[in-house]
Amino acid sequence: MPYPTKTAEALTSLRRRFSQIADLSQIGGLLSWDRHTYLPPAAGESRGRQSATLDTLSHEKLTDPRVGEWLERLEDAELQPEDAALVRLCRRKYDRAVRLPAELVEEMADARSQAQDAWLEARRQNAFGLFAPHLARMFELCREQADRLGYEGHRYDALHDEYEPGSSAARISRLFAELRPPLVELVHSLAASGQDDRDAVLHGEFDELRQEEFVRDEVTRFGFDFRRGRLDPTVHPFAQGIDRSDVRITTRYRRDFLPTGLFATFHEAGHGMYEQGLNPRLARSPLGDAISLGVHESQSRMWENLVGRSLRYWRGAYPRLQALFPESLGDVPLADFYRAINCVKPSYIRVEADEVTYNLHVIARFELELALLDGDLEAAGLPEAWNSKYGELLGIESPDDVLGCLQDVHWSLGLIGYFPTYTLGNLMSVQLFEAACQHIPRLEEKIEAGEHAPLLDWLKRNVHERGSLHQPDELLELATGSVLDAGPYLRYLGRKFQGLYQRVGSA
Ligand code: ZN
Repeated sequence: MPYPTKTAEALTSLRRRFSQIADLSQIGGLLSWDRHTYLPPAAGESRGRQSATLDTLSHEKLTDPRVGEWLERLEDAELQPEDAALVRLCRRKYDRAVRLPAELVEEMADARSQAQDAWLEARRQNAFGLFAPHLARMFELCREQADRLGYEGHRYDALHDEYEPGSSAARISRLFAELRPPLVELVHSLAASGQDDRDAVLHGEFDELRQEEFVRDEVTRFGFDFRRGRLDPTVHPFAQGIDRSDVRITTRYRRDFLPTGLFATFHEAGHGMYEQGLNPRLARSPLGDAISLGVHESQSRMWENLVGRSLRYWRGAYPRLQALFPESLGDVPLADFYRAINCVKPSYIRVEADEVTYNLHVIARFELELALLDGDLEAAGLPEAWNSKYGELLGIESPDDVLGCLQDVHWSLGLIGYFPTYTLGNLMSVQLFEAACQHIPRLEEKIEAGEHAPLLDWLKRNVHERGSLHQPDELLELATGSVLDAGPYLRYLGRKFQGLYQRVGSA
């Protein structure tokens, strides 16, 4: 049955408005991609101005009082489930935008750009003191932001919810309490095996052009569509989905260390294929967007780890890699290469961490940012707290703050509540992979044969095309039949790494 005229009009207006906002955000994405790839160095300031103007335009379109009127009218109407979902999503975006006064938004933007400069300078000089006051200011503003946005449980929830709708500090604390002890124990037991030089074969001379040739070919096999995407070099790899027809991934090659380029590209290709797989029917609507950072990360980790660091995959792919690097890898047996890319070693830098230690880096950040937000920890005390946390979790202490609390860009940008989504993504990646294995006969044999279409199609149907029609928890349950759970991930790690280390130890 058609909607009454007023309802239909409000719905059309709301849809049109949000598709314009989507276009502005896509243009912003393009400007940002360009900034991190090919922008001439002198153009940084003008690019900053262009992006700020775009943000203002988008904010004005979103907070227009008419949007509030359309929403109210539609909330009183009887709607089809999909339209009701659209209204809920638009309401969420509208409320979050109108609750933040323009002065606070401007102050945040200003503090962010100052904190960024200070962070870079503090890294250059290895002088945390230069950054500390900016960090304190950032947390103060985030506290105010959280109070304006409102929350039921913890202040952290208001910030975290932006990245992971429906999640909360309490839920993260529960999950992390389950992960912490077994992970710490696993790291210690693997470290005690004294085999931390097993990645030596990956250090050497690896021509960057050949690396690029290899990863381009591999991610094409995965299903990354180069007619609708690009791959370019950058300093800190990222994926930028502009539209499902234009998805740009970036990577970084190190001539002296092979894994950086391999796994950064697999990771970003996973993000990219999610964006390419979004539902064309829902394009330019909030319903068509990727639902959360955690779900996004589940897709990148799927291709980086579950596929890209598996023995099955390398049984098929390793001869291709050896053919490109005969001097370095020609004499290295597959088993040694596989052990090398899965070397577990407590290290300082999160983005270079192996699958086992990675989540401990995230747990450390979550506990510290919670303490900073609550005021239990002063910004000036962060380096000490950081080191004691790293001692507790990983048994190491960083030699300086550049390798310690100054390594991530997130807090200088006010991205508080973001880190846990990396671990959520890891947990979900295993649950999704196990569900895919149940639904796709002989999936692991197919991966070995380089047939990745069945896995990608399954992910498309069960994750990508669902866009934002469901909350992350609901999406996971629809796809896997179970709720988020640390168990499958811990069992996966135990199986893979205890087996891997024991086999080698006794060999
Ligand atoms: Zn990622």
